[in-house]
Amino acid sequence: MKNVDNKKIIGFDLDGVIINHAPVKIKLAKEFGFKLRPKETQSEIIKTLVDDLTLKQIQKCLYHDHRFFKSTPLMRGAKSGLLKLKKSNSPFFLISRRSEPEIAVTALKYYGLWPKFFNEKNVFFVAKKEDKNIKAREIGVTHYVDDETGVLEKLVDVKNRFLFDNLDAFKNIKDYNRVKSWKELMRHFLK
Ligand SMILES: [Mg+2]
Repeated sequence: MKNVDNKKIIGFDLDGVIINHAPVKIKLAKEFGFKLRPKETQSEIIKTLVDDLTLKQIQKCLYHDHRFFKSTPLMRGAKSGLLKLKKSNSPFFLISRRSEPEIAVTALKYYGLWPKFFNEKNVFFVAKKEDKNIKAREIGVTHYVDDETGVLEKLVDVKNRFLFDNLDAFKNIKDYNRVKSWKELMRHFLK
């Protein structure tokens, strides 16, 4: 019998899944007087540890400043994973909440991901967490990867939700497929 559910349409979050901000977050937080462990840089945890003004300043550097992505690495295995997906003809998309798309695209170009893997056709910028679900539904995304539980929570129309937890911040999460690396992610996507 033909398995109609076999086709995967994959959606990715950008920050914390493809781009690894942890090292720069640790460095910036230190400048503001906060000593963070890697897992404490996870977006939902850092906001419970540093004050709002500091968090805003860190975010400003990460997402609104052209200089910072040069010191921010890609997530280990992201590029080779995307290459494998491309070779397997699995369609994939990027759905990000970045409010300055131009900076995100400049970063993707810098990493060599634009236009090889991402371009105007498979990259979408939305405003709110709920909008990620709307866009994912529109595209027909079957698998979505995000590093925030609060985002996955809103992706109610996506059948397979993956929590990217390379920082080991969410050991007890049972609601989503928790993966710790791109290598692990690829085991799900390429089977
Ligand atoms: Mg993220």
